[in-house]
Amino acid sequence: MQSLAGSSLRRALRPASQLIRRNAPRRTLSSPPIQKPGEIPNHKRVVTITVAFLAGASFYFFLPDPTRAAPTLEKAPLSPRYFTPSTVVSNEETGPNTKLLRLSVPTEVITASDPSGFQSIWSVFIKDDDIQVERPYTPLYGLDEHGHMLFWIKKYPKGEVGRWLHTKTPGEKIEFRAPLSTWNWKNDTWDEVVIISGGTGFAPFYQLFHSVISDPSISPATQFTLLHSSRNPEELPPASLLTSLNDFSEKHPERLKVNLFVDAADEDRSSSLHVKRIDRPSIESAAGLVKPVVPWWRKIWGHREPELPPKRRMFLVCGPEPMINAVAGPYGRNMSQGVVGGILAEMGIKSSEVYKL
Ligand SMILES: Cc1cc2nc3c(=O)[nH]c(=O)nc-3n(C[C@H](O)[C@H](O)[C@H](O)COP(=O)(O)OP(=O)(O)OC[C@H]3O[C@@H](n4cnc5c(N)ncnc54)[C@H](O)[C@@H]3O)c2cc1C
Repeated sequence: MQSLAGSSLRRALRPASQLIRRNAPRRTLSSPPIQKPGEIPNHKRVVTITVAFLAGASFYFFLPDPTRAAPTLEKAPLSPRYFTPSTVVSNEETGPNTKLLRLSVPTEVITASDPSGFQSIWSVFIKDDDIQVERPYTPLYGLDEHGHMLFWIKKYPKGEVGRWLHTKTPGEKIEFRAPLSTWNWKNDTWDEVVIISGGTGFAPFYQLFHSVISDPSISPATQFTLLHSSRNPEELPPASLLTSLNDFSEKHPERLKVNLFVDAADEDRSSSLHVKRIDRPSIESAAGLVKPVVPWWRKIWGHREPELPPKRRMFLVCGPEPMINAVAGPYGRNMSQGVVGGILAEMGIKSSEVYKL
C-alpha cells in the first residue's frame, strides 16, 4: 500500500507545471461570455486564483514538512516517526548508473525494534542531509541480524537523492526512518502472484523473494511469476541477485518462474533474455492465461474444454511511471491505486487483482 507519507511526498515532488496544469481553467473554443455589471472580469479572476494557488504552493513547499523535520534519535527502536543514523558499509557499482549500498545500524537498535513492522514488503525513507529531502528505498534482504540493509540504487541524471547516495563512501552517516509498509503479503490468499517490474522496481520483488518466495513452507500452493524489464543487459539487476533467483527457480519451477526482458541487446545475448518490452502476450503466457486452441474438428463434435476453477490472482506492478501506466494504468488522485488500466485492463483483470507499488 502506498504510505501516506509516500503519497504526500510524491505529490510534493510532482513538477509545478503539472500542478498548475491541473488547476488551470479549461480552454474552450466558444466566444467570451458577456460580463454582467458588478461581476469580476474573468482575467482578473484567473490572476487572483493563480496568485492564491502559487501562494498556497509556496506555503506547502517552504514550510517544514513534519516528516522531514522529524527528530533524529540515536539508540531508539526503529520507527517511521523519527530518523535513525546509519553508517555506510560499502557502496559498489553494479552497472552504468546503479550501485549496491550497504548501511548498518547498531544491533541494540534492532533488538529494541518491534519486528511486526518489518513484514514484506517494506521500505525506508532515506534523508538527503544536504537538501533535506527524503525518498523511499527498499532493502533487498530487509534488515539482517547484524543490523545491515542492502539497497540497489539507481541515479538519474537530474535525480537528487539517487545522485547523493552514489557519492557516499564507507564510514559516512546516512539518516533514515523505517519501516514503511509498501504492500502486505498475506499467507494462503493467492494461488498465483505475478510481479511485473522495471528498473529498480525489481527491489520490492527481491525483498518478497528473500522473505516469502524462497521459503516454500510459506503459502506452499502459491505460484510466483516474475516479468522483469531493464533497458539493456548492463542495466539488469546485479548478477548476485539474478543468480540466486535462477538457481531457485530451476530447483522449484512450480514455485517461481523468471522472465527477463531488455529493450535492446547485442547479438551475443543470453538466449533466455527476451529482447522486447513486456507486452500482453508475454504477460498472458507467463501467467498461464493463454486459452488452448481447440481444433475446428473437435468443435464440430461439440467438444468443450473443462472449466477450471478460477484462480485467486494478484498482479504487482512496480517500476517507472510510464511502465506502470502502460501495464496497469495510471495511479488515481493523490497517488491512490485508481482503477486498473493498460494491458491488465485489456486482459480483463479486475482492480482488486492489481496493486501498483
Ligand atoms: C515504495 C518505493 C520504493 C522504492 N525503492 C527504490 C529502490 O530500492 N531503489 C531505487 O533506486 N529507487 C527506489 N524507489 C524510487 C526512489 O524513491 C526515487 O523516486 C528515485 O531514486 C528518484 O529519486 P531522486 O531524488 O534521485 O530523483 P528526483 O529528484 O525525484 O527526480 C528528478 C528527475 O529524475 C528522473 N527520474 C526520477 N525518477 C525516475 C524514474 N523512476 N524513472 C525515470 N526517471 C526518473 C526524472 O527525470 C525526474 O524529473 C522507490 C520508490 C518507492 C515509491
